[in-house]
Amino acid sequence: MISRRKFLAATSLTGASIVTGNKSFSNFVKESPVLNSPIVISTWDFGIAANAAAWQILKNKGRALDAVEKGVQVPEADPTNSSVGYGGLPDRDGRVTLDACIMDELGNCGSVAALEHIMHPISVARLVMEKTPHVMLVGTGALQFALEQGFKKENLLIPSSEKAWKEWLKNAKYQPEINIENKLFSPTKLPGNQFNHDTIGMLALDAAGNLSGACTTSGMAYKMHGRVGDSPIIGAGLYIDNEVGGATSTGVGEEVIRNVGSFLVVELMRQGYPPEEACKEAVMRIIRKKPNTAKEIQVGFLALNKKGQYGAFAIQKGFSYAVCDANDQKLLVKANSYS
Ligand code: ASP
Repeated sequence: MISRRKFLAATSLTGASIVTGNKSFSNFVKESPVLNSPIVISTWDFGIAANAAAWQILKNKGRALDAVEKGVQVPEADPTNSSVGYGGLPDRDGRVTLDACIMDELGNCGSVAALEHIMHPISVARLVMEKTPHVMLVGTGALQFALEQGFKKENLLIPSSEKAWKEWLKNAKYQPEINIENKLFSPTKLPGNQFNHDTIGMLALDAAGNLSGACTTSGMAYKMHGRVGDSPIIGAGLYIDNEVGGATSTGVGEEVIRNVGSFLVVELMRQGYPPEEACKEAVMRIIRKKPNTAKEIQVGFLALNKKGQYGAFAIQKGFSYAVCDANDQKLLVKANSYS
């Protein structure tokens, strides 16, 4: 186990800045140290609470798969989170449609897309993996399966999200865009802390040295009904290879799908790239293909390798991720970015 001081000393001076508790350190991480104990990392600041739930399983030598499912259930059930699960912003027809996937250390995976009325799409995805011969169920088929498995049908559109959608309808410009963080969706400024996107992608390494990952989102706000992003697509929004590591993504799903982003990050790590460098190369792949549009959108990748080293990189500033291990349960790291 390493102390925080050693952790900071073990890092070089060219990477992401670390924020922990109320303190912000000026130290930088290029490559986090090799860790021989469990760790869980996840996208955005809401990853802190999700990691805490996952940690309860990891610290007791539980399986990474159970940890990531439990972890991402936290933002899924949180009505104040407008981009994941219950309380998520609807599509342009006012329907909350959810995308999620999960992958374990054996390469098993399950996924649901455009699923309505179910608070925990990640758990439905897990059952697709465990109880069907398939990888992915979508729309009404996914709902039918969920109901057969005993999930409750619920109204996921909460009043604040409905209000934001009705505001959006006044102009209803169909231009789904993934904004740069803190620049709220235009033309409608969303009330409170609502954002028009952001996915929770979570990666965990357990005490047995096994990796799993989960990814869940309500996707891009005011998307076309039926639009599916990267988050439930194995290889795009999430990929795990227990020999190498795992990766997940957030941001404009279409660009991540076009570049099979998370698979790319894992394959780069297989070639020896440290996690942050692998994420950076995947971001650069997007930018090189579309230099103009890419500068206006956000895509962020997060990666964890088999040694417990992690890193991230985004196109735009503002992407953060949460890290939880035996040393610190509430670490928030600002990712490096192209911009
Ligand atoms: N990747 C998600 C999607 O395209 C949105 C996000 O993570 O910001 O649906």
